[in-house]
Amino acid sequence: MTIYLDWAATAPIDPAAADAMAVEARAWANPSSVHAAGRRAQTMLDECRRRIAAAFDVPPSRVVFTGGGTEALGLALAQGVGPRFVSAVEHDAVRAQAGVSLRPGARGGAAVIPVDDDGVVNLEVLEEMIAHADAPRVAVMHANNETGVIQPVAEVARLVAARGGTLLVDAVQSAGKLPLPEADYVAVSAHKLGGPPGVGALIVREEVTAVQRGGGQERGQRAGTENLPGIAGFAAAAAARAADHGWHHRAHGLRDRLEAGLQGATIHGARAPRLGTIVCAGLPGVAAMTQLMHLDLAGVAVSAGAACSSGKVRTSHVLAAMGLSDAAAGEAIRFSLGWTTTAADIDAATAAWRAMAARLARAAA
Ligand code: PLP
Repeated sequence: MTIYLDWAATAPIDPAAADAMAVEARAWANPSSVHAAGRRAQTMLDECRRRIAAAFDVPPSRVVFTGGGTEALGLALAQGVGPRFVSAVEHDAVRAQAGVSLRPGARGGAAVIPVDDDGVVNLEVLEEMIAHADAPRVAVMHANNETGVIQPVAEVARLVAARGGTLLVDAVQSAGKLPLPEADYVAVSAHKLGGPPGVGALIVREEVTAVQRGGGQERGQRAGTENLPGIAGFAAAAAARAADHGWHHRAHGLRDRLEAGLQGATIHGARAPRLGTIVCAGLPGVAAMTQLMHLDLAGVAVSAGAACSSGKVRTSHVLAAMGLSDAAAGEAIRFSLGWTTTAADIDAATAAWRAMAARLARAAA
């Protein structure tokens, strides 16, 4: 059986979410229809919004449903006109939509806020960068998807507010694990917390102007017939995570156990506050893809630190921003844990990793 340690890529759908989705799929009607079935769908949509708002401790009126985390980020990034500042470790969904060129060396439309060796944004530099900016639009994520490093978003929010700016926090990885931070825009995604992919929300302070125009759904903030089965799954998953809020705390113990078992690995971001669910580990001298293939054969599913799409591996901009060389960044893999991960999973994964490291060391000798 596969030991799934790739929860940061996507979490298995929670049984409660699957059940809620099946019910909504069977009782499907358009929430905008005026007949009884449509009214029932609207009532259900309102109820899901309330449950999600309660799980995230915000008023329901602040929840705007979207088609996932990427769309929520795009909606936030489309607001306002001030100059943009984005942290160097943002997800590509922010970098691409904020105008940071994803090609190395190319100049983009957003200024990049540097991070230290542990991947934490440099607050002094940020303060200087926005010192003369008029209504700066700043994006700093809550927790990083490659390293789990948690950013000091409360301090960032204070600096941004002092300049009359707005703050977007990508909380896709932290939602369901940590309390959501206070910001003008907070993006969340259902599939990282046990809901289905393709559903998310932007938590807004003020109403936003729709990017996707059409019908007046989401009080005119996001057009398109609501994905009620997906939203029902999102609500069930968010409620399940909120009902067991100790799970993320327990994950820290498993993370420490994992790191103790990865003897000889370099843990990136180790000195910073981190999620209990993500470990970015480098094995000196061994390419991430080689590690992934060995672990896959041993039944352990993990990801590369470097972004991989269409068969091409790019150096991780996150690890590069933390000062790693291309070679060191290319040796990092990500283990990510979830609410059903057990100590036995961790022990089996570390045993497989140690066997791999020993085999590769013998082969290289
Ligand atoms: N932001 C972060 C930090 C992520 O990890 C992801 C998904 O990998 C996204 C945004 C995009 O979310 P979605 O897959 O829901 O579009």
